[in-house]
Amino acid sequence: MKGKIIKGISGFYYVHVVESGIYECKAKGIFRNRNMKPMVGDNVEIEVLSQEDMLGNIEDILPRSNSLIRPAVANVDQALIIFAFKDPEPNYQLLDRFLVQMRRQDIPVLICFNKSDLGNPEQQAVIESIYDKSMTQLFFVSAKSEEGLDLLFSALSGKTTTVAGPSGVGKSSLINRLQKDVHMETGVLSEKIKRGKHTTRHSQLISLDFQSYILDTPGFSTLELDGMEAANLKECYPDFEQFEPYCKFGGCNHVGERDCGVKDAVESGELSKGRYDNYCYLYEELKQNRKY
Ligand code: GDP
Ligand code: ZN
Repeated sequence: MKGKIIKGISGFYYVHVVESGIYECKAKGIFRNRNMKPMVGDNVEIEVLSQEDMLGNIEDILPRSNSLIRPAVANVDQALIIFAFKDPEPNYQLLDRFLVQMRRQDIPVLICFNKSDLGNPEQQAVIESIYDKSMTQLFFVSAKSEEGLDLLFSALSGKTTTVAGPSGVGKSSLINRLQKDVHMETGVLSEKIKRGKHTTRHSQLISLDFQSYILDTPGFSTLELDGMEAANLKECYPDFEQFEPYCKFGGCNHVGERDCGVKDAVESGELSKGRYDNYCYLYEELKQNRKY
């Protein structure tokens, strides 16, 4: 039987099989000789040991289309980052860090601003002007009034999406709204997981419908961009690309150099000054990191 690992807790894997539910599995398959460890998001082949108790054994891990390190998850199609118009105020530097983090791993990002009921059109226009060139889709929604949820739901349909955002922006509220008819199923999951003694929050995949999953990761407040060279940062800014031909120096990093197309674009208002300032901040941070 084929299924998908939606959660892993100390040697147990919870495998969602669309037609029949969630099996608690151990991994004793031959793939262990290949030195592969199952991870959340893996599509797996299981052998059912007890249909009544929903127990099984993972026999094989199907090939992965990708696997992320942070969060640890396989077969991700896209990332959804959630911020709020207000309460809390958006932290654009954190948003840009997240975009960089995902772009490094080649994952497309959707940006969602929740609590549109607390925002206004001017604020929305500002957000659009910052991100309209950055190759990310923007969504403005309200978990409270349900505004914009249909569009967001369509963007998640048929995909596995990893979700992140600071706490308080409404992630849980949104995920609840988006789940529609599968509340019962998550009920079953929490019953099973309650049996474990481990209460630390693990990432887990939640199914929205038969072919859509979202990975709810524990909230973040900071994000380290470790292991990255400052000179590679610009590659994570697709909105800079069209201005780079006007840089005088090849390999211009757009920070201190003379005759820089990106800096000119910031001065003429074509690129957001805030986004550029955050870029410089991250660039400096990466430079500093190298010294240690
Ligand atoms: P999380 O920490 O990101 O999971 O955020 P929660 O879902 O727990 O929501 C944090 C707070 O924001 C709660 O008090 C929610 O009721 C509130 N909230 C969530 N979505 C909305 C929204 O669209 N509009 C308003 N006004 N409040 C919201
Ligand atoms: Zn430049």
